[in-house]
Amino acid sequence: MQRRKFIGNISKAGMAVAAAGSFTGLESCSSSKKSSGGPFKTSFAQAPLPYRYDALETMIDTKTMEIHYTKHAAAYSTNLIEAAKAEGVSDKTSVEEILAKISKYSPKMRNNGGGHYNHELFWQCIKPNGEGGPSGQLLTDMEAQFTSVANFKSQFSDAAKTRFGSGWAWLYVDSQKKLKIGSSPNQDNPLMDVSDIKGFPLLGLDVWEHAYYLKYQNKRADYIDNWWKIVNWDYVQKRYAAI
Ligand code: MN
Repeated sequence: MQRRKFIGNISKAGMAVAAAGSFTGLESCSSSKKSSGGPFKTSFAQAPLPYRYDALETMIDTKTMEIHYTKHAAAYSTNLIEAAKAEGVSDKTSVEEILAKISKYSPKMRNNGGGHYNHELFWQCIKPNGEGGPSGQLLTDMEAQFTSVANFKSQFSDAAKTRFGSGWAWLYVDSQKKLKIGSSPNQDNPLMDVSDIKGFPLLGLDVWEHAYYLKYQNKRADYIDNWWKIVNWDYVQKRYAAI
């Protein structure tokens, strides 16, 4: 029952994206988990933070984590719930489905649906003592696409450093199943039909000042350099394997 519903939702999300012309490689979207959302389905409520606020010291300080999770990210979730109610969207809908046709909704839905999705992903993409690096198929494909992991990190860091104002840097998989690096403004992301870059996000880096200002002030580059030390590569690979 649950699985039927899940497949149905994924299918609808995939079809909506395909209809928008952004994903032409989704021929199997109705028959398997290999679609734009993969097995990942984000609900409107915040998931518990998978570690303590102080767990990422000294890369991200305790106060920043607490404010970021309990204030900024919590507000995106609350406002998304409000927007969905006002715009007649069931709270059983996945955020992925909404993002795939975000052009049909209000700016409030775009900002907060994106904000909520991005943060739910962000918390999972980092962990205490991350270090390590990609392995398996992700490593193979990353080296094929970017020459080396070091080169990938350098290009991703550049995307994060040069995003003017607030936004996100992404490693994502495009419709040709190729690994891509890009960035998006505000709380946009590659799942949105309005986004300049389109695909399935594997790894996202929040470069809004609220993510780093207490500890790093204006030094966004230092925050980015330290952030690599807490990336949860197991989780990134799980996402890659799922699409
Ligand atoms: Mn943030």
